[in-house]
Amino acid sequence: MRLTRTSDKVSLPKSGLGLNRRQFLKTAGLSAGGIAAASMLGTAMMRKAHAEFIPHDTPIEVKKTICTHCAVGCGIYAHVQNGVWTDQEPAFDHPFNSGGHCAKGAAVREVGHGDRRLKYPMKKEGGKWKRISWEQAINEVGNKALEIREQSGPDSIFFMGSAKFSNEQAYLYRKLAALWGTNNVDHSARICHSTTVAGVANTWGYGAQSNSINDMRNAKSMIFVGANPCEAHPVAMQHILIGKERGAKIIVVDPRFTHTAAKSDEYVHIRPGTDIPFIYGLLWHIFENGWEDKQFVEERVYGMELIRDEVKKFPPDVVENIAGVTKEQMFRVAKILADYRPGTIVWCMGGTQHHMGNSNTRAYCILQLALGNMGVPGGGTNIFRGHDNVQGATDFGLLFDNLPGYYGLTSGAWEHWGAVWGLEYAWMKSRFDQGTYLGQEPMHSTGIPCSRWQDGVLEPKDKIAQRDNIRMAFFWGQSVNTETRGPTVRKALDAMDMVVVVDPFPTMAGVMPERSDGVYLLPAATQFETYGSVSATNRSIQWRSKVIEPLFECKPDHEIIYLLAKHWGIDAQMFKNIKVNGSEPLVEDITREFNRGMWTIGYTGQSPERLKLHQENWGEFSADSLQAAGGPCAGETYGLPWPCWGTPEMKHPGTQILYRTDLEVRNGGGTFRARFGVEHEGKSILAVDSWSKGSAIEDGYPEFTDAMLKQLGWWNQLTPAEQSAAEGKNWKTDLSGGIQRVAIANGCTPYGNAKARCTVWTFPDKIPIHREPLYTPRRDLVPLYPTYADQYVARLPTLYESIQKQDFAKGFPLVLTTGRIVEYEGGGEETRSNPWLAQLQQEMYIELNPKDAQDRGIRDGDKVKVHSPEGAIIEVAAMVTPRVIPGETFMPFHFAGVFESKSLAKDYPEGTEPYVIGESANTAMTYGYDVVTQMQETKATLCQISRA
Ligand code: SF4
Repeated sequence: MRLTRTSDKVSLPKSGLGLNRRQFLKTAGLSAGGIAAASMLGTAMMRKAHAEFIPHDTPIEVKKTICTHCAVGCGIYAHVQNGVWTDQEPAFDHPFNSGGHCAKGAAVREVGHGDRRLKYPMKKEGGKWKRISWEQAINEVGNKALEIREQSGPDSIFFMGSAKFSNEQAYLYRKLAALWGTNNVDHSARICHSTTVAGVANTWGYGAQSNSINDMRNAKSMIFVGANPCEAHPVAMQHILIGKERGAKIIVVDPRFTHTAAKSDEYVHIRPGTDIPFIYGLLWHIFENGWEDKQFVEERVYGMELIRDEVKKFPPDVVENIAGVTKEQMFRVAKILADYRPGTIVWCMGGTQHHMGNSNTRAYCILQLALGNMGVPGGGTNIFRGHDNVQGATDFGLLFDNLPGYYGLTSGAWEHWGAVWGLEYAWMKSRFDQGTYLGQEPMHSTGIPCSRWQDGVLEPKDKIAQRDNIRMAFFWGQSVNTETRGPTVRKALDAMDMVVVVDPFPTMAGVMPERSDGVYLLPAATQFETYGSVSATNRSIQWRSKVIEPLFECKPDHEIIYLLAKHWGIDAQMFKNIKVNGSEPLVEDITREFNRGMWTIGYTGQSPERLKLHQENWGEFSADSLQAAGGPCAGETYGLPWPCWGTPEMKHPGTQILYRTDLEVRNGGGTFRARFGVEHEGKSILAVDSWSKGSAIEDGYPEFTDAMLKQLGWWNQLTPAEQSAAEGKNWKTDLSGGIQRVAIANGCTPYGNAKARCTVWTFPDKIPIHREPLYTPRRDLVPLYPTYADQYVARLPTLYESIQKQDFAKGFPLVLTTGRIVEYEGGGEETRSNPWLAQLQQEMYIELNPKDAQDRGIRDGDKVKVHSPEGAIIEVAAMVTPRVIPGETFMPFHFAGVFESKSLAKDYPEGTEPYVIGESANTAMTYGYDVVTQMQETKATLCQISRA
């Protein structure tokens, strides 16, 4: 369906609706030519991308870059003439996309013209936007932060970071927060895959995609749960459909009949929020028929008997009652999974964004363990990440509970990074608030999550576990329409002393506040205006070249970070090992610094030189195996996916498939990680009769330490210099890499060889337990599957049962979910400001079933009001479609620029409003946060819909 109705109240800026492409561009004030578009910009606003006549024979420079719109990581050839980005081609020789692009990738060149971008620093004064200089901006923003620090402590500044940073920028931003003295730093992984990271890492060691998208060509079956790659990761479908052509069966489990479902052999509708009953229902058939991989479970899995007991509570009739799937279909799906092995599972935000999302992700892992699908080509948990560098930003600790490399926040973790940075622990500690607050010591306690910064602003001061409220926030590459409870978010924006947006676009954080002063907009360059490394969803690290110089007065993020650090007087400590040219830190030096510290997950072997060599040789890597058969990268996996063990000189080839015992560790093999000790309740949790090929220890073993090397008699295999560095250290903290080198030389995985575990004894739910959503239509199930008690999580009081005990279902009978559409990305500011994409989807909408529409007198395209049980009311178009069943609805989450029926177009600085604006789905989304990670619950709430 194409939406054609123009809103009367919600006026869209210029774009209008129902226009064809040429009309749209004309109405939007653009011609079809990119260079002509650049000519619209005043020369005073521009640097290199100014309009000029470029003769056809002007030499073309070809730059190799990577799409910035999702973590598939497609390669692009960018053609540049006289400093202007004039053309682009999808890289035909790139191993991920082989010449393919989706609409977003095909439109990235428009970013290089960016007429809707922020062009210079601005501040809001007396209700008006005013242009200021960079010097004034840094002085005023920096001074306000120092003033708040003096009055309320460092925790009163919130550092919202970005999944669109390069690896180097993400690392530097985390370091900036660390040296500022706060753990109030986070980014959008919190709200997309934090429950994955927690659940998966606590099952077998690493919280990342275990295989690769390319490896899905080898799968015999694929089950997608709450994942819609056709729209969210379109080029991944190349590999998925090759797998299908080779005979793989495809099962799609989703409340909505998605584009991906249209490609499936079996589409399963489940009621939103019932993933665990569904997975346990499959396991019921698997155990009942003896289809589990008994040898694999015996050798490599701990605690499956606890799951067997829980699964007994989910026979077919119970599953049908809770999830709505018949016994016959459950049997069919279980049999496909049993008959077509190895099989892979893919999940995305349909699985993660629940108040017990960490349990969902553990349940998916347990299904794969029962089937013996881990550590094999064609198997694994292929967890697709969203933004281009959400994997890297997560790896580099842009999180409230971690330093780079998942080292945590213990004193040992700080000492490790202090050693890398050349800083004293005592000095770093002095930067934090001292003492404890509600029992929490700021340096060692998790900060406030980005899903709830608004509560950090608004909760009474004595109710939060830090010295004072959040009073100022940097919204750096992430906007606020990604947070639920829109009216609360707006209130918090208005309550803070200062709001600072650092972004190529003004974003909703700059536009939504009703305040007339205290909002700053600092123009950041895009990734096409700088260079560095980026980690794709499969853990491959790609080097991205600079395509053009920063447009207008934009600066790359790492330069803005430097300017702030300098203003705050911590530049000498921050850049001790990093050369700074003028005010721009040298990117390669940042890469080398993190290479020296990221031992935990093996980001140590990927030097800038090795990554650049892979970039130069895209065409040498097979799209089937991801390996280079010959040439300078022979035997290596593309992008040296982590763990790439040891120092760069060790030449580890990268690990394409985690936990693979049929390969030697030095060739990319591995075991499950011994991360949780060696025993539990008196039982060994090390692997039994299972080890990776060539292992000198033919049994399970713990993590490597200096003491273990001595015990094994391997200590003398270290050089004298390595011995001196490794004394008192382990495989994660030995900065020489000697412990890792010797472990691998003896065929062992540095992190040990343990069983994966089905029970996480440190989590509130030790095994996955079904709990009804906080806002559930099934009141009858609440007594059987209740939520948690209200409790403190991440410095904040967090509500569970006090919400669930209220019956909202009578007034709000429709289940509401949200998700992604192919045209836009994330909060959507960048893609809705791209004329080529904006024309494709011009209006925000809600999908509802024809029955629900008829019951309410609503026709396709009508303007409707969506009522939230928490009081918000948004106005969108109705898309009447059977792709959602009666009683269930869906909204895309990329829109912004309209708030509860009121257009904010006039609140953008002149000329920066996106071509398409609309209500944010999250304005109407409700309370609910994962009990472990504070992921917001946006895949199962309630609403009512009425004609507008
Ligand atoms: Fe490839 Fe993703 Fe970019 Fe589309 S958005 S071109 S799938 S990287």
